[in-house]
Amino acid sequence: MKIAFIGLGHMGSGMAANLVKAGHAVRAFDLSEAAMAQAVSDGCIGAPSLEKACEAVEAIITMLPGGQHVLSVYSQVVEHAPKGALLIDGSTIDVDSARQVATQAQVAGYPMIDAPVSGGVTGAKAGTLTFMCGGPDAAYERAEPILKQMGKTVIHAGAAGAGQAAKLCNNMLLAITMIGTCEAFALAEKLDLKDQVFFDIASKASGQNWALTSYCPVPGPVPTSPANNDYQPGFAAALMLKDLGLAMQAAAQTNADTPLGSRAHALYEALCNQGHAAQDFSYMMERIRRGA
Ligand code: NAD
Repeated sequence: MKIAFIGLGHMGSGMAANLVKAGHAVRAFDLSEAAMAQAVSDGCIGAPSLEKACEAVEAIITMLPGGQHVLSVYSQVVEHAPKGALLIDGSTIDVDSARQVATQAQVAGYPMIDAPVSGGVTGAKAGTLTFMCGGPDAAYERAEPILKQMGKTVIHAGAAGAGQAAKLCNNMLLAITMIGTCEAFALAEKLDLKDQVFFDIASKASGQNWALTSYCPVPGPVPTSPANNDYQPGFAAALMLKDLGLAMQAAAQTNADTPLGSRAHALYEALCNQGHAAQDFSYMMERIRRGA
């Protein structure tokens, strides 16, 4: 299949490379020369413009930083995409913008889904991402086989914007459980419990959660967690802050009460402002230990 891939940064580069490996002709476009050079060395066909990237393709995938980038790129995509081309936006953006581009695509006659991902750069490279999709059934059915070549789990969450809604709610929950896990370790340490002992108990008791057992914020109990690698990401605190910002925006618009989400947002904002935006989001452990 001929596929255009727009936005070949940390995530898009690995995803596009996996489509090439699956046998697709991938036409790549990015504003960054370095990203373009990487895409070409991974086997993509470099396109000099978005318009050229879209020429004669059957699907167009975008993987962009935020809502304003997606809105701007989509204003061109709906002008240049071949008739009937399938549009897939994998970026994490606010639900309103996702619905806005979906309407734009529908009015212009293109099937479209939002398909934000979970799994990070490692998952993008390994082809093990989870895709949370929103959009009409027919568009989802066309997108699913393509997404399965970049991920291991693909879920249809509902109508346009539902993928973004699922992503925001999941990451708000992750932030809250991570902070809770950090607080529990910090208090356990003050009560003279060893980290490993507390882990052995909580991971078998009712405190068990993913942040504890798969992504433990203290070094030792889970050897693969970023805490064992000087908190190199992983999932950077800045990206968690971005997702919490989108969740808070959605909560304000829908009048949802999210007291812990709001506190998590404030804590991640403080962590990033203290110069730790590029560290893994589990670095919250150090902030909670310090108490400020
Ligand atoms: P990134 O900044 O590394 O990549 C984005 C790319 O888009 C850049 O190469 C940039 O040059 C390009 N770009 C921006 N505007 C463009 C335009 N108008 N035309 C063409 N290219 C343009 O970001 P990333 O880490 O790859 O993340 C992409 C999306 O995936 C974001 O929405 C992010 O929130 C989401 N996400 C990231 C991670 C992660 O761990 N990095 C995990 C899950 C989801």
